[in-house]
Amino acid sequence: MAYRVLARKWRPQTFEDLIGQEFPAVTLRNSIESGKIAHALLFAGPRGTGKTSTARIVAKAINCERKDGGKFPCSTEQCSICEGISEGKSLDVQEIDAASHTGVADVREIIESVKYSPASARKKVYIIDEVHMLSQSAFNALLKIMEEPPEHAIFILATTEAHKVPPTIMSRCQRYDFKKIPVEKIKESLEKITKAEGIKIDTETLYLIARESEGSMRDSLSLLDQLTVSFEDRITHKDVISLLGIPDNESLKSILRAVFAKEPAKCVELVRNAASKGISPRRMAQDIIYMFRNLLYLKICGKDFTSDLSPDEKDELSELVKDESTETVELLFNVIIDGGERIRSSFYPEIVLELALVKMSTVGKVEKIDNILKRLERLSPQASGTGKTPSSPGGQTRTAERRPEKQEDKPAEKESRHVEEKGTGENEKPAKQTPASAAGEQTSGDDPVKQEIVDFVHGKDKFLAKKLAQAHLLEVKGNRVSVKFLKNGINHEKELKKSRELRKILKEMLGVERIRLDIDTINDEEINGTGGASRKPDPAEDEIVNYAIRQFDASVIKRKNLS
Ligand SMILES: [Zn+2]
Repeated sequence: MAYRVLARKWRPQTFEDLIGQEFPAVTLRNSIESGKIAHALLFAGPRGTGKTSTARIVAKAINCERKDGGKFPCSTEQCSICEGISEGKSLDVQEIDAASHTGVADVREIIESVKYSPASARKKVYIIDEVHMLSQSAFNALLKIMEEPPEHAIFILATTEAHKVPPTIMSRCQRYDFKKIPVEKIKESLEKITKAEGIKIDTETLYLIARESEGSMRDSLSLLDQLTVSFEDRITHKDVISLLGIPDNESLKSILRAVFAKEPAKCVELVRNAASKGISPRRMAQDIIYMFRNLLYLKICGKDFTSDLSPDEKDELSELVKDESTETVELLFNVIIDGGERIRSSFYPEIVLELALVKMSTVGKVEKIDNILKRLERLSPQASGTGKTPSSPGGQTRTAERRPEKQEDKPAEKESRHVEEKGTGENEKPAKQTPASAAGEQTSGDDPVKQEIVDFVHGKDKFLAKKLAQAHLLEVKGNRVSVKFLKNGINHEKELKKSRELRKILKEMLGVERIRLDIDTINDEEINGTGGASRKPDPAEDEIVNYAIRQFDASVIKRKNLS
């Protein structure tokens, strides 16, 4: 018997045989069983995902003559119609490759034959593969017949580039999208086929072939065919690597190990070794990128989420990153993606790859923000028992306080406010004023959060900004803004509470839909409670700074008062 290539021999014959295309398979079978199949179908999707095979299965299912009550279509032994279609001998099912029959004459031939009733089957089925390749005039001719198709004809159009099919044709078709077949499913299918064909091959190599075929079952079987021609019935991982000229998993993992062990020289050596074996740096970068993607998935989503790898590979990669933070893996992933981009357009791809790996193996570890915050919390004197809360290093709560006004300051301040308001009102070029000066002298340069809020509000409404600037305390926590005025000081509580404009501006500033605005007045006891009294340098603080310097191996660059 003549040798049949695996892709033809193992071509799916029934809906159950289709791999990774559950949605089109189930929907088509249901519509055929209920007799509601459309007269024109469009199968869109990448190459090798089963579009033409599905079209043949549909042709068989519509015409199948099995009488034992089983599912349509039958397997070839049970009815002559299905057998004829499977072998490409049926007169009623025509397959046209639009890639080589692009002209209007080819479509006219179809139109001519559509008129006649089917020879033996119930319906005539026209399968037009790569339909997007038809010329404009051929599409016009096709449109004519699709507008008023005879009862006995069904058109199945298959394409890898659906966007090139004219909308007039598209709108007359029921569309089915075929997706790339997942690696796991291709591997399962290959396992079944190799077992049946008596080919000895290990799981990891099956995964490799499945990955290489990029979602196309046909490509995976073609590759298997090539391998059996070269290596007969025993195929090893090494055989596949040498046939495809791709980096082997072991060298890739060695590169990853060198990156995490911070050994730049080793990384460069491994790249050079691979290049000397004829492996392209572009391909190597691509594989390292995929490895990092898997590392990140393993780290974030766990082993079940990552389906491109064999269980052993998953274990090995998980082990490799178990001591690394997600942030570190993310950072390295970004570096290699960036390198990969540059490699694509570089004249010196090998050097760019070396450089990217050197960079990856020399960057420091990235620590989780949560961990840093926890360490800072531990540094707090409250935690160590001194009872005083230090200024927040950047938590959720941001506060800004004014120093309490002394009684004797008040008249002068009121006066200055009056003058300031008048001045701003008469000023013809307010844009040239700085927000702080416009908002009034009351805004202390030591209150950065308050200053920020007042500045923002000033950009929208300078009078509101002036009133806010006179608050004793401004605090933002999530979408809650607290404004506190002193009982004995200038108090705008009532006006601000009524101001819809203020709410609107604050919502815009915080970028939130809803805001909680608490405006009230506090007395002197509460000021002491909130620590609003004039702050003196605390000797305990120097201790904290020194401790932080020791913990983080840091040095003081600049001192800034945060409260
Ligand atoms: Zn049949």
